[in-house]
Amino acid sequence: MDKLRHRDNNLGMSILSEILAHNSQFVEKKEYEPFLTDRFPDKKLAVLTCMDTRLVELLPRAMNIRNGDAKVIKNAGAIVSHPFGSVMRSLLVAVYELNAAEIAVVGHYGCGMTGLSCDRVLEKAIARGVNAETLRTLHHAGIDLNHWLTGFTSPEEGVRQSVSIIRKHPLLPKNVPVHGLMICPETGRLDVLSDGYGSNG
Ligand SMILES: [Zn+2]
Repeated sequence: MDKLRHRDNNLGMSILSEILAHNSQFVEKKEYEPFLTDRFPDKKLAVLTCMDTRLVELLPRAMNIRNGDAKVIKNAGAIVSHPFGSVMRSLLVAVYELNAAEIAVVGHYGCGMTGLSCDRVLEKAIARGVNAETLRTLHHAGIDLNHWLTGFTSPEEGVRQSVSIIRKHPLLPKNVPVHGLMICPETGRLDVLSDGYGSNG
């Protein structure tokens, strides 16, 4: 328990101990019952979206996605950064193993990945105790931190790039529509950048 207490918040509880205290009540009172479902998405949809905190509840409500409806993959910026990375693998698993029939990439206005600067992130890392020598070692080992830690110039561009990587993926069946959408993080309004049925984009 000491470890759980070492980062007390203003309630005098650590984040984890607060979660665990809630959790035992949640299970005991069977509050999980409304969420019972299986692992196959009822709406046959896989969604790639951003980890932005404003979307945690808003996005599923705005898209009418409930527990059991969709596979939801999240990262910073809703980005597929590599065609053979973990996001693309998750999408392929959703399609082949879990019967997702369509994919939606949902970026959002005001995304924190817009103009993310590698230098700024690394400055903060050094300020938090990461050794500058470690950064040089990574650089010499051929790891392109600058490319890896740089965001997009606009979230729309990010969505278009991700949609393009997914659509062109050699392992994705041609009959899986891939949609590119933007969501407003305040109102939940969706704008279609490109629908996967071929009518635009
Ligand atoms: Zn975002």
